[in-house]
Amino acid sequence: MTASHGNRSSSHGTRSSEVSSRQVVVVGAGYAGVIAANRIQAARRPGVTVTVVNPRSEFVERVRLHQHATDGTGATHALSGILDPAVRLRIASVEEITDAAVVLDDGGSLDFDVLVYAVGSRSVRGVGAEHTHTVGDLEDANRLRSRLRELTAGSSVVVVGGGLTGVETSAEIAERFPGLTVRLVSSGPVAEGLSDRGRRGVTRTLARLGVEVHAGSRMLRAEPGRVVLADGTDLASDCTIWAGAFGVPDLARRSSLPVDDAGRLRTDENLVCLGHPNVIGVGDAVAPPARVAGHIRMSCQAAIPLGAHGADTALALLGGQAPRPLSMGFASQCISLGRRAGVVQLVHADDSPRSVALGGRTAAVVKELICRSARWGVGTRGSAVRWPVSGPTPAGQPQGTSA
Ligand SMILES: Cc1cc2nc3c(=O)[nH]c(=O)nc-3n(C[C@H](O)[C@H](O)[C@H](O)COP(=O)(O)OP(=O)(O)OC[C@H]3O[C@@H](n4cnc5c(N)ncnc54)[C@H](O)[C@@H]3O)c2cc1C
Repeated sequence: MTASHGNRSSSHGTRSSEVSSRQVVVVGAGYAGVIAANRIQAARRPGVTVTVVNPRSEFVERVRLHQHATDGTGATHALSGILDPAVRLRIASVEEITDAAVVLDDGGSLDFDVLVYAVGSRSVRGVGAEHTHTVGDLEDANRLRSRLRELTAGSSVVVVGGGLTGVETSAEIAERFPGLTVRLVSSGPVAEGLSDRGRRGVTRTLARLGVEVHAGSRMLRAEPGRVVLADGTDLASDCTIWAGAFGVPDLARRSSLPVDDAGRLRTDENLVCLGHPNVIGVGDAVAPPARVAGHIRMSCQAAIPLGAHGADTALALLGGQAPRPLSMGFASQCISLGRRAGVVQLVHADDSPRSVALGGRTAAVVKELICRSARWGVGTRGSAVRWPVSGPTPAGQPQGTSA
């Protein structure tokens, strides 16, 4: 984070002493960034202008990208219909964050008094990256969609990664393209984080959809036409999909902001960046201390409360008040298994599974409703979002209900 960039332009003009306006810049318009922007704007603080910077004019519903890859419908929505009309939208990528401005890839810059860092995550390609697809971002999902449409009956698809993204992706493809042979490769047990009952629901449905599961062996390499596993198994593959871990953009690291080993912005328990009191981190790209966020996994479920809490912190800072520490817990994990089945795993606030899990068509309906409510929830209703708390409730903080 350098002190200044000479010769920069600003869409807001130069700040001067006679202008009492304060600028909030939100970097990234995913779940966390959109709810943060809408919630700050909803407070209607006099003189506060909220600007969102995002590389595209659409909101990408990342939770639907595995569906988008199979049928191309419904994963993008105009941000103009989701952001509060008073929020400004700048279509650009932030290249660097300095002490009081963001530098954009279109040659401009924006001054800020408060910055909300919400750049999210993306797929990190594993071994054999040049021969694999992913569903981690829209462009990758589009490429995968083109490839799936080229395949003919009898072709093989191998999905690598037995976590929830791999499970959802393999089920979706098997249901949509029954003529393909779909295999799921997992180094550990498939859907490991679920209860026994939840896992049984997943494996039963995968079997019904004809997905061949190879659990307990990791992929050694992907090559054109095949995938080789560490146990020596050689799988034919006309389309290999990497569904392993997500990583984060390196913007914070590039800007010399404090990051953890994974490159996530390090914050205090209020989501304020360590050593940078005017920078707030929200969503997948943030690493608050373990005492408040040790249980938080990268997810839309967490990004929404993180974004809302980051907004509350921004409003506190703008009002000269002390922000409150984050307290957020989980209630469930919802997995789609094609469009006609799913699993809803109830979890404790720390995300560990309860023994109760719901399956079948009802779970598919619940999952669909949750995806829709996530999109509605980040919109202009964002100021009303509540979420389950985790651990001791800080004094004065209301207990939320499930988001
Ligand atoms: C296929 C799939 C299925 C999933 N299913 C689920 C699920 O069922 N449940 C669940 O809870 N989670 C699920 N997730 C995870 C969930 O989508 C993410 O955790 C969530 O999107 C994180 O939200 P976010 O706002 O932090 O980031 P994102 O949604 O990733 O948004 C980040 C935004 O920042 C923008 N950006 C990045 N860099 C810059 C920059 N330099 N300048 C300006 N803008 C920038 C990006 O373009 C993007 O618009 C799924 C993910 C995938 C891929």
